[in-house]
Amino acid sequence: MIDAGRFFVPGPTEVRPEVLDAMRRPLIFHRNADMEALMQRANAGLRTVFGTMRAVHVITGSGTSGLEMLIRNGATKRVLSIIHGDFGERFAKIAEACGRDVVRLRSVPGDVVPLDQIRDALKIGGFDSVLATHSETALGVRADIAGIAALVREHEGCLLLVDAVSSAGAMRIAMDDWGVDGVVSASQKALALPPGLAFAAVSARFVARAKGLTDRGTYLDVLRYEEFTAKHQSPTTPAISLLFALDRQMADVERETLATRFARHDSMLAACSAWVDEKGAALGLSHMTKAAHRSPSVTCIRTAGKTADVLVAMRELGFELGGGQGDFTGNTFRVGHMGDHTVPGMTAMLHVLERVLPKR
Ligand SMILES: *Cc1c(COP(=O)(O)O)cnc(C)c1O
Repeated sequence: MIDAGRFFVPGPTEVRPEVLDAMRRPLIFHRNADMEALMQRANAGLRTVFGTMRAVHVITGSGTSGLEMLIRNGATKRVLSIIHGDFGERFAKIAEACGRDVVRLRSVPGDVVPLDQIRDALKIGGFDSVLATHSETALGVRADIAGIAALVREHEGCLLLVDAVSSAGAMRIAMDDWGVDGVVSASQKALALPPGLAFAAVSARFVARAKGLTDRGTYLDVLRYEEFTAKHQSPTTPAISLLFALDRQMADVERETLATRFARHDSMLAACSAWVDEKGAALGLSHMTKAAHRSPSVTCIRTAGKTADVLVAMRELGFELGGGQGDFTGNTFRVGHMGDHTVPGMTAMLHVLERVLPKR
């Protein structure tokens, strides 16, 4: 864990030196027994993180590649997009770029779309799939995926596809129990690895649908991944050095235990929220997101302006924070408190931030 972290960007996140060092290992051939053993170990760890008995595919690509895999192999024509911020909007745009019709359900910024509204939209919609973001990194909003899944399951033939890029490793995902059909994450968020890998798991229902789709392409064809991951292999040459880092990190995550990891993220959220509550008024800061829906991965904080100056001042002191995103670029900033960060490390950063912020 990192008790003196300096890199609080909500992705990529700080990577421990031990994990970076794992990538210095000499390359091995990707079809040999060592690599198959590594893939098997990594898969076991990732299945626990996703809460699934299904295979978790490891794709060389950023999170977006996994999201595109879900759309190209799982969404047929008409898609309902639940949007809580900029990343939800990007997921919708991937579907549109792949030629799907998208209907958007947008929340009030900092809030979630009420489940009743989702239930109503599903009744009239004729949707073959629903897109949702578990942790909306742009505004620090956590969605009730279990609740959404229960609604989607009432509609036979409708799949639920979930962007879990900044939630996997920070909060509980129960893909099988909730009845989710596609889950995607990436290496550089709460799993605290360097960028470059996406992780994707799909349900049996999803695979059945993919078999009927003819434009799956090659690189993101989920059926090829189903075949190769079952053999603990990758369809194409994997990013072997990143897999060494993954192997090391998954062992450490297992040692920490997921329960402890989730509790650590909850504590970081609680400490960051409390800091805004206590110091906000004096520093011209306030919460962007309602307390009930805050993500344990990232806190989005509203400012009175001059956000860019504060970020630059922090950078000069060696601390990197996240700027605002989408419509909130100028008047918010974000503290990424995910991955291997700790409450002491984050608190030390907040003390510095307090000195940097102009007093009111
Ligand atoms: C970071 C992020 C993405 C984009 O991932 P890339 O790895 O940059 O492709 C998508 N969704 C969410 C919720 C994210 O946090």
